[in-house]
Amino acid sequence: MFDKLLGQFSKDLGIDLGTANTLLFVDKKGIVINEPSVVSINTRTNQILAVGREAKEMLGKTPPHILTIRPLVKGIISDFEVTEKMLKYFIDKIHQDSFTFVPRPRVIIGVPLEVTEVERKAVEDAAISAGAREVYLVEEPMLASIGARQNITDSVGNMIVDIGGGTTEIAVISLSGVVTWKSLPVAGDELNKNIVQYARDTFNLLLGERVAEQIKIKIGSAMDLHEPLEMEMRGRDLLTGLPKEIIVNDAQIREAMSRSINLIIENIKATLEVTPPELVADIYERGLVLAGGGALLRGLDRLISEEADVPVRIADDPLTCVARGTGMLLDNPELLREIALPATSEEVAASRAK
Ligand code: ADP
Ligand code: MG
Repeated sequence: MFDKLLGQFSKDLGIDLGTANTLLFVDKKGIVINEPSVVSINTRTNQILAVGREAKEMLGKTPPHILTIRPLVKGIISDFEVTEKMLKYFIDKIHQDSFTFVPRPRVIIGVPLEVTEVERKAVEDAAISAGAREVYLVEEPMLASIGARQNITDSVGNMIVDIGGGTTEIAVISLSGVVTWKSLPVAGDELNKNIVQYARDTFNLLLGERVAEQIKIKIGSAMDLHEPLEMEMRGRDLLTGLPKEIIVNDAQIREAMSRSINLIIENIKATLEVTPPELVADIYERGLVLAGGGALLRGLDRLISEEADVPVRIADDPLTCVARGTGMLLDNPELLREIALPATSEEVAASRAK
């Protein structure tokens, strides 16, 4: 199905197939692709118009015959064909570089915590038919935690909270395994929707989700800021149908997002509540780590710290934690074998047995 995409490819590869962003990590080289998981297609000709950043620019601006698709929903492939096209585009983009020959390219792919066996098999099959010789699926919070340099192999509680586009995944990891976790469908996209809803309810202003995301990134926050921020919010007046601009400030946007943020914090607390006390003690001492794009929301670290009463650290470059985690695992085959999810088929199991 994936047209032996990786057959031509000879370097080991890590893939973070996120709802919002797709990253490719090439062994010994680093992150070579970091683009939105978006594809735009002309439905009249069935041709791909753009992939990644360029396609995301088109969101909300297309005529009816151009579809802008996000093929992943909550971290899971919802449109297989489009996901395949997107990956092919990204891999083609990097394969211009020459790679030294490695006969058995290994591919590590991050998957969400609550992925079903059927969904796992779909990802494995995709990678195999793309030409991967060995495929390893690893739970995303494990990769995020490795990428954030937590010591997941130790017998201590490592807590990681990965706030992506579609989902927030919360996990406590000890001795290379996930001990307790929660996954909720409230993350960056939901915050954007909250802002759209707020503009509609409060100002009769219809906002695009792209604009809402820009507002979130520019002035969004989870707690009072030392210096107030404001910006113009442009959309369409629902009463007159005409363009309208309104100045909003950080307090208003904070209010708009507060329910979702509280939900994330409630789930962090609930995870701590079901975590064995020894591990909780470690977390109170060492703190929890925030990863994913949502970690960058101003003041979220402080708010979580206050509400859950634990120290909070934002991972370095939180948007690339999972991809860097795959890179670190490519260099540690022993750990990879230990934490990879069991293969779903004989074929994949056999490929790993060498
Ligand atoms: P995924 O793994 O689901 O693809 P990412 O970890 O790439 O998600 O995070 C994407 C999300 O992070 C998006 O919802 C985006 O709006 C959000 N985001 C990115 N930068 C910021 C920022 N500076 N402040 C708040 N949210 C941000
Ligand atoms: Mg992610």
